[in-house]
Amino acid sequence: MHNAALAAIQKQQPHLDYVYVPLSVKPADLAVAMAGFTAIGLVGFNITLPHKQAILPFLSRTSAIAKIVGAVNTVWQVEDGWEGTNTDLQGFLAPLSQYERDWKQSTALILGSGGAARAVAVACAQLGCAEIGVIGRNQFKLEQFQQSWQHHWTKSTLQVYPWETLPQLLPRAGLLVNSTPVGMHPHVDQSPLTKTELEGLPADAIIYDLIYIPRPTQFLVQAKQRGLVAIDGLEMLVQQGAAALEIWLKQPVPVAIMRQAAEDYLGLR
Ligand code: NAP
Repeated sequence: MHNAALAAIQKQQPHLDYVYVPLSVKPADLAVAMAGFTAIGLVGFNITLPHKQAILPFLSRTSAIAKIVGAVNTVWQVEDGWEGTNTDLQGFLAPLSQYERDWKQSTALILGSGGAARAVAVACAQLGCAEIGVIGRNQFKLEQFQQSWQHHWTKSTLQVYPWETLPQLLPRAGLLVNSTPVGMHPHVDQSPLTKTELEGLPADAIIYDLIYIPRPTQFLVQAKQRGLVAIDGLEMLVQQGAAALEIWLKQPVPVAIMRQAAEDYLGLR
């Protein structure tokens, strides 16, 4: 999707001669890779698992949002080294902007407590959600999540809950986010919630699945059958990518072209 956007931009601005390529770097080689990126004058890069936190010491500047999330996904070269930020939040929030909700009165429930859940929790705090519940199956990881949540900039309260308490929590969910891989290819018949559990959600709840393959997931099929608003993860993927490309190019990018390229590549059209 980046290269589709770059090709379209280059037609108007031939001097913008860039290409986006995948580079596989082992954890032990990150320092060498960074030195190499500096040496060849790389404009910038996205960084993904397992480097999203490990990159932090290599940056001379980190955006406030990346510091809060504790992870970086976008890096670009600056005068004194490298600067990093996290565009996952922007990506996550983009499709929610078309729904009018009084977030200050809303409870957001997040299924899973991994890396994406962390970015989603910060995004929900940015929305101003009154209460954020993080539901997981591993008590130790949940406690770690709770302890790391010491954000004085937000009035949102965050509470972690074991998976078994889900039926009691669902009736107060304004936003329910699946940030687990449950339902992802190849386990496409799975859903993080049973049909009965889904019945417990309020009629105006928004169901958001970060998964983009299959599209829709079983979870979203069930949500739609119940008449709930259902959002999949494709727009988040496209928007976080577009936000990164805008940082590197310092100009707006053709998001529709990126979306189309992603849908074509993933066989979604
Ligand atoms: P992660 O760090 O590995 O976290 C996954 C979380 O899901 C963990 O809390 C894990 O619990 C939980 N989990 C896994 N299997 C489970 C199961 N069977 N039942 C209950 N919980 C389960 O992964 P991530 O980076 O946060 O990504 C999570 C999902 O979001 C993935 O599907 C990924 O593709 C998607 N994602 C989408 C976008 C996008 O742009 N649309 C961006 C980022 C991520 P344990 O810790 O107990 O294993």
